Amino acid sequence: MSRRGVAILGSTGSIGTTALRVLSRQKERFDVTALTAHTNAQLLREQEREFHPRYVGLVNGSETADSGWHRGSECLVQAATRDDTDIVLNAVVGAAGLDATLAALRAGKRVALANKETLVLAGALAERACAEGGGEIVPVDSEHSAILQCIASRPTADVRRIILTASGGPFRGWSDDQLEAATVEDALRHPTWSMGRKITIDSATLANKALEVIEAHFLFGLPYDRIDVVVHPQSIVHSFVEFIDGSVVAQMSVPTMELPVLYALTHPERAVDDGLAPFDPVAVSPLTFEPVDAARFPALRLGIEAGKRGGAAPAVYNAANEQAVALFLAGRMRFGGIPKAIESALATLGDLPGGSRDELLDADAATRRHVMELI
Ligand code: NAD
Ligand code: MG
Repeated sequence: MSRRGVAILGSTGSIGTTALRVLSRQKERFDVTALTAHTNAQLLREQEREFHPRYVGLVNGSETADSGWHRGSECLVQAATRDDTDIVLNAVVGAAGLDATLAALRAGKRVALANKETLVLAGALAERACAEGGGEIVPVDSEHSAILQCIASRPTADVRRIILTASGGPFRGWSDDQLEAATVEDALRHPTWSMGRKITIDSATLANKALEVIEAHFLFGLPYDRIDVVVHPQSIVHSFVEFIDGSVVAQMSVPTMELPVLYALTHPERAVDDGLAPFDPVAVSPLTFEPVDAARFPALRLGIEAGKRGGAAPAVYNAANEQAVALFLAGRMRFGGIPKAIESALATLGDLPGGSRDELLDADAATRRHVMELI
């Protein structure tokens, strides 16, 4: 069997390092062809020494780098379109991952997509890029990986609805007053997953689940009224698919991103991996489910509304959230300010045109300026 080439965009992050851990156990199947990072030249150098990629890119111009490395933001698209690469794992955080996803799809690659912001910002453009270039998106997000595995190639017409599970984040059950005063440290203390800072804050506001609803809409071609969310604090059931005959299929595992990363590389095949301990249903019990507290976490409703509204509204939602989260992490916005900033941006800019990449990126930039003016 010839080995498949894998490029990893965002190799120094939480998903990127998880992917390299998975790939270190799959060397007979996959070959790491390219690595890119925004910062952290030291870790990138260590990764280069271990995996010997033919391409290394560092976006940040001010960090010292080895000669032979590619520099600047162009390196994402360069790494994503190489002839020696079959699969592009996009593990960049935020809208910065957009062009590389589109370029990889146009070049006919499989995009193993962790960078969900790409689909929220420009889901229709990604669909068009797949059609033009023959590329495909296979989700890395654990919920969407679960749905893909549960649907198991049945047509969309067989699916009555999908139910995304949400851990509920660190603030499940908190009062309004507690939430208003929540600190960055509180918000970064996720109960079940260890992840990058931005997605950890998104999990605390439930904006992450809104991004995932929009992501699911584009990946599985389902209207929003057939996508539901339920809180499942243990993060063992990664999502459900309810079929038209009433049968419900779920996918389970202990909470680790290693499994969805590996599956995105091998889909529809499976590979032997001894990295995970055997599943023990008794050890993970009890499994519980509860409704989302929609009033306390308005970012979820705002995101679903933006998805239904279409045009540039999802891009505005995403950009407002990215900017507000950056301000919260920098200590310049309160936790409760994040959904307020999103709501204000959508009210002001939600009807901007969003038919092309340039219109969407203009809406993204206008939204970031709007949020900066709020503080
Ligand atoms: P992270 O912050 O840990 O890592 C981000 C990576 O992207 C780093 O390598 C960083 O150098 C690079 N990067 C950041 N900004 C960049 C830019 N402007 N240009 C180029 N590269 C840039 O983030 P993460 O937690 O690994 O998340 C990555 C993506 O995966 C996000 O979209 C997130 O929503 C999604 N995701 C993450 C998890 C998880 O468990 N961490 C689970 C599901 C989905
Ligand atoms: Mg997820």
